[in-house]
Amino acid sequence: MPELPEVETICRDVRRHLVGARIERVRVLKPDVLRGIARQAFERHLTGRRFRSVGRRAKHVVMALDDGRRVVIQPRMTGSLLVAEADGTKDPHVAIQVRLESGKRLLYRDVRRLGAVFLLTPGEWGAYHAGLGPEPLAPTFTRSRLGALLAIGRLAVKKAIMDQRRLAGIGNIYANEALWLARIDPSRPARAIDATETRRLHRAIVDILSRAIASKGTTLRDYRTGLGARGRFQSRLAVYGRRGERCRRCRRRIVLTHAIDGRATYFCPGCQR
Ligand SMILES: [Zn+2]
Repeated sequence: MPELPEVETICRDVRRHLVGARIERVRVLKPDVLRGIARQAFERHLTGRRFRSVGRRAKHVVMALDDGRRVVIQPRMTGSLLVAEADGTKDPHVAIQVRLESGKRLLYRDVRRLGAVFLLTPGEWGAYHAGLGPEPLAPTFTRSRLGALLAIGRLAVKKAIMDQRRLAGIGNIYANEALWLARIDPSRPARAIDATETRRLHRAIVDILSRAIASKGTTLRDYRTGLGARGRFQSRLAVYGRRGERCRRCRRRIVLTHAIDGRATYFCPGCQR
């Protein structure tokens, strides 16, 4: 599933082709990806508008139009966004094609169509934005901010950092990786994490997300960058997908459990306590 580094990579790749560009024609080929708006209304609203900005919020792509509305794309499990030179409407996985005046196409592909696309007014966007936790790579995301969001509730620390209302952008892969880097057992109650561990976890979150962005994200299955390439961070993963392999820090074997929320949790029983 695309998490913060993958969606950030997509935004950086498509941004320079979109900002300022006029939308000539919109074709929604798979209307079931749209939420709260019908196909014709979506196509009509976008046609003739220009993209004002392209950014990321949590694991979502946010494209502002020149009338103040925002197209928000949640790629979820199998969605991807890319800029192409040629017509993509013959590709069976293309759900939406936006043709720009430059002749380039913005394609939203979604293999299993688990993703979602919204068109929000400024007011709706405000509510959407407010419902998400802080951005972990923003300067305002400090150690004490992390400490405060861990202090509430008795849920496992791994679940707490994946809760998008508490902290935006971290999913299962980077939660596993950050907790390994911080040497914290993922099943520990969030509020039991002490100040020293919070400092380590804060540094680990910022470090792992920054390094994953530098490698253009992790491709395990469907994720592609905004230019259609594979990410490179999969070879750098320390625990995720490495059950039975040796821990790079203490040489114990990595364990897989589904005890936290049914999700795959990989950790090292030797150095994550
Ligand atoms: Zn270890």
